Amino acid sequence: MLLHLQTWADVETYLKTSRAIIVPIGSTEQHGPNGLVGTDAICAEVIGRGIGEAAGALVGPTISVGMAQHHLAFPGSITMKPTTLIAYIRDYVASLSRAGFERFYFINGHGGNIATTTAAFSEIYADTSLSRDSNRPSVKCKLRNWWESAAVKQLSKELYGDSEGSHATPSEVSLTWYAYPDAARPMTMNPAVAPKGEFTDAADYRRNFPDGRIGSNPGLSTAEAGKRLFDAAVKDLAVDYKAFASS
Ligand SMILES: [Zn+2]
Repeated sequence: MLLHLQTWADVETYLKTSRAIIVPIGSTEQHGPNGLVGTDAICAEVIGRGIGEAAGALVGPTISVGMAQHHLAFPGSITMKPTTLIAYIRDYVASLSRAGFERFYFINGHGGNIATTTAAFSEIYADTSLSRDSNRPSVKCKLRNWWESAAVKQLSKELYGDSEGSHATPSEVSLTWYAYPDAARPMTMNPAVAPKGEFTDAADYRRNFPDGRIGSNPGLSTAEAGKRLFDAAVKDLAVDYKAFASS
């Protein structure tokens, strides 16, 4: 169930049975030579919607621009500064919490969002702690990185081993090709596996990782693998969502 395809009355009815909602959060940033700029947003969205279907849960609008300053030397990348993203998440949660939502299950598609999203949760909890209104509903937020679910980690390892890397990975590219088969761009990478290492700002990133990848070989991506990763993630995370929703 997608929030934006409900009426307000539908949402009021939903709140009588559940006070939890899934929030996909991703990024809009370069993903190497054959990965889509929307990869992280697409992955979070399709898995968030998959969990929503499996668990009968409402899914909020995807936060599709994340904290991606280090990708800005590649055209098409968009960032929110950490402070902007914190403010965005806080307002998103506060709006729904005013209506009665109390459990916010964030499905994340981008490693660069983790620190900022966690900081946003601390701001949200601080707002409650500092409030003199003791009748405020108690809000809980949880962040789950889809690629870190146990079943996904095992499958990625089995499929790609050391070619998985950490950015523009064959797992995430495969998942987008499963979601959007017409967008698949099979190609051979050169070098096969990209360099690994650290980065700071956007220029530093592009110097160290000239084609955008880190440690990965997305030339191994297939839509078939994407389907297997999708099924594994949804199976794992739907169970986790249900436990959180009733916590
Ligand atoms: Zn990514």
